[in-house]
Amino acid sequence: MLSYRHAFHAGNHADVLKHAVVVHLLRHLCQKDKAFWYIDTHAGAGVYSLVDGYATKTGESETGIERLWGLRDLPSFLKDYVNEIRALNSDGTLNFYPGSPYLAWRLMREQDRARLFELHSTEIDLLRHNFRDAGRRAILYEGDGFDGIIKLLPPPPRRALVLIDPSYEDKRDYARTLNCLEESLKRFATGTYAVWYPQVTRLESQRFPDQLKRVQPKNWLHVSLTVSKPPVDGFGLFGSGMFVVNPPYTLVAALKEALPYLVDKLGQDGKAAFKLEHRGD
Ligand code: SAM
Repeated sequence: MLSYRHAFHAGNHADVLKHAVVVHLLRHLCQKDKAFWYIDTHAGAGVYSLVDGYATKTGESETGIERLWGLRDLPSFLKDYVNEIRALNSDGTLNFYPGSPYLAWRLMREQDRARLFELHSTEIDLLRHNFRDAGRRAILYEGDGFDGIIKLLPPPPRRALVLIDPSYEDKRDYARTLNCLEESLKRFATGTYAVWYPQVTRLESQRFPDQLKRVQPKNWLHVSLTVSKPPVDGFGLFGSGMFVVNPPYTLVAALKEALPYLVDKLGQDGKAAFKLEHRGD
């Protein structure tokens, strides 16, 4: 039984980190004319309303995009991301928040392709609706993204960004993500992979970055943004991280500039902090 709905969390601090990284990775891929594929193993609905429905019940966008929305001194890495959110809200009011498939779709060119997996029947219906005009350049699969991606690799253009972004509400998602990354790398070692993970008070979450590094011991970047101390009741997200395999060389410098700014703007208490580490060949 799938109970997770990303609409409850759209635009929160974790989405800010994840989507800013995704925008940067896509921009880098767009620097060469050669086509690429964007593969999203856990796509969600594509676009979320922040002014009605689930998002208003939690107000989580107040921990993320709402804090950046009106700022004029954003580092370029964040400006690029916030401009994408502005493009979806052309009247200047923050009403909608794009999910990863929508962000990717806006940046992709005619020659690029999207392959999107979503298991939840309601979410895939929303995604289909949001991609109704996409034509054959985007293929949406109602099914398991961990298994489904394996059949797509290597992608014909031999260039791709793969986003692996489960909710981890089911703790088996940690092991499944590690296995998915490992199997994907066997088939397509040169792809760019971005794995998102939550910082929660769970052993699986704490040991996850080291496990990811064992799957891919070189050519990785790990970034995390902690916005507060862990909650005393043990429940809730107090930060998140991204592990990027085969990152572009530009990502470290962009994050070095943006992360202190994010800690300042999204930090909720004195425990807010970031981590940035990377390993090349
Ligand atoms: N990537 C989206 C974004 O950034 O906008 C958010 C994705 S959300 C964190 C995780 C999504 O994965 C949910 O919509 C959930 O229904 C879906 N899901 C859960 N298990 C899945 C699976 N095994 N394969 C594909 N989708 C799954």
